[in-house]
Amino acid sequence: MDNCIFCKIIAGEIPSNKVYEDDTVLAFKDIEPKAPIHVLVIPKKHIKSILELHSSDKELIAHMFEVAKKIAVEMGIAETGFRTIINTGDNAGQTVHHIHMHIMGGREFDWPEG
Ligand code: 5GP
Ligand code: ZN
Repeated sequence: MDNCIFCKIIAGEIPSNKVYEDDTVLAFKDIEPKAPIHVLVIPKKHIKSILELHSSDKELIAHMFEVAKKIAVEMGIAETGFRTIINTGDNAGQTVHHIHMHIMGGREFDWPEG
């Protein structure tokens, strides 16, 4: 999609620090990490948010969770624990309108979120 920063990262037009890539999913380090480990998992297909998901995306979303698990294990945060977040819309603070799962670890997190 034009003017989507994450589509530009997928296309290689904007550099990123990749941690995982396959045909349908890309994961890269967040540019402004909010935890010692902060990775974003995105589908290569441009989907704006959870609100744009369809039943045909089931496999893709399940795959994103598999990739999240793999990254957590490989980055050494599986045992200590980690947080996965998908922000949707203004109240949640979604700033990039290409669906993305945050994976954060390496420190303790508050609950509930602020
Ligand atoms: P949101 O607030 O939409 O849930 O999260 C968007 C995330 O994308 C933020 O944590 C922000 O730091 C990250 N981000 C925004 N632009 C870029 C970029 O160009 N490269 C990378 N690696 N992360 C970005
Ligand atoms: Zn996009």
